[in-house]
Amino acid sequence: MSEQLQIAIIGGGIGGLTAALAPRARGLNVTVFEQAGALREIGAGVSIHPNAALLLQRIGLIDGIKKIGSAIAGLLLRTSLGELINTSALTSTGVQGYNVHRAEFLKLLIDAQPEGTLHFNHRLSAAKETNSHVQLTFSNSEAVDTDIVIGADGIHSTLQRELGLKTYPSSEGIMAYRGLIPTGQLSWAKNIDGAMSMWIGKGRSFLCYPVSGGRLMNMVAFVPTNLNAEESWMTPGDLNALGAEYAGWDDPVLETICALDQTFRWGIYDRAPLPYWSTGRMTLLGDAAHPMVPHLGQGAAQAIEDGFTLAVLLQGATRKDVPRQLKAYEKLRIERTSRIQAVAREAGRFYRAEYENASERDRLMGKWMSAAGWIRGHDAEQTAEEALLLARNDEAIKASGDL
Ligand SMILES: Cc1cc2nc3c(=O)[nH]c(=O)nc-3n(C[C@H](O)[C@H](O)[C@H](O)COP(=O)(O)OP(=O)(O)OC[C@H]3O[C@@H](n4cnc5c(N)ncnc54)[C@H](O)[C@@H]3O)c2cc1C
Repeated sequence: MSEQLQIAIIGGGIGGLTAALAPRARGLNVTVFEQAGALREIGAGVSIHPNAALLLQRIGLIDGIKKIGSAIAGLLLRTSLGELINTSALTSTGVQGYNVHRAEFLKLLIDAQPEGTLHFNHRLSAAKETNSHVQLTFSNSEAVDTDIVIGADGIHSTLQRELGLKTYPSSEGIMAYRGLIPTGQLSWAKNIDGAMSMWIGKGRSFLCYPVSGGRLMNMVAFVPTNLNAEESWMTPGDLNALGAEYAGWDDPVLETICALDQTFRWGIYDRAPLPYWSTGRMTLLGDAAHPMVPHLGQGAAQAIEDGFTLAVLLQGATRKDVPRQLKAYEKLRIERTSRIQAVAREAGRFYRAEYENASERDRLMGKWMSAAGWIRGHDAEQTAEEALLLARNDEAIKASGDL
């Protein structure tokens, strides 16, 4: 009789919630433990590029995303003074990407969880692994035994520490002001049809894209800061200070800043790639494994890819197989996510640089934009299925040689 493995996911963010849905779609038994008492999201946008949209489509979420999202129609890249540098189609893979409001997307993911499988008010405090299982302890004093633990508990991951890893956040020297504006208030946004708009140069960049079915414009303004800037998602920001950062920039930038009622400051951090993600029956996913600076909009997409990879590798696994399958997951994912972490830093440097020579700028742009192809054209589920097949073939060959 096949054993029904119990999977516990720590963290009910975008990574944890999609990592619960993907294995469930393959018949696995998953429970999510989230520290917060309820969905608590401040307004901000997040991109679901084609590499993530493709996967979410397969578990039936794309109709819901279409309702709340804004289809990404491309990127309009301009200098700080408004000269158009490049227009690129971000959907060259044939799969449509979407920009969504984080709170609306999280609600969609929460609503898709079967009743009784998502436990709020459960903050992991410790995880103790034995040969046969893992014992989880929560700060509400509950204890849970499980077969597999997936730490999707974000950049300050508790599970990462329990795996014996000691890493520190690394500041990009940049912080972002974020805000949302009703799109109808912005004269420049009348005819953009879902395109993302970005202004670059002078040590800063300014990004706008529509969310909430196009009703709201999400603004993210990246500016230099000292390295001790607070690492936070929701510290209130000063609108006058934001305005001063972009004095003299293109009119739509100034119009957008003037239209804001409030703004939040966000310190931009990542962490160096980890030497390992898994020990025995415990592993990491999403920002807990590979936090990245946001210049490629791949934070959520990479977490989603992780979850689908795990789902493929754990389907049909027995208790004995678990450590090997988690190592296979780590091996499949660590190289790709480490590369994307590095390219995201490079993209940020490109955006903020001021080029005297347009051909040098265009050469560098071509270099990192070509990365968009291998990043957004990836099918994580298919890659995992192919790797699993290869591993099974190798085992069969080895077994026949042993006869
Ligand atoms: C508020 C917020 C705003 C963001 N904005 C942007 C953005 O504008 N652009 C962008 O590119 N990326 C943004 N990100 C990052 C992006 O969303 C992530 O890269 C991506 O969604 C993957 O996240 P994750 O699920 O791995 O981690 P997170 O989204 O950080 O989720 C981790 C979850 O784990 C929970 N948790 C933490 N510790 C514990 C514990 N000990 N026990 C139980 N639960 C725990 C947290 O409460 C949280 O719900 C944002 C993240 C957050 C949290």
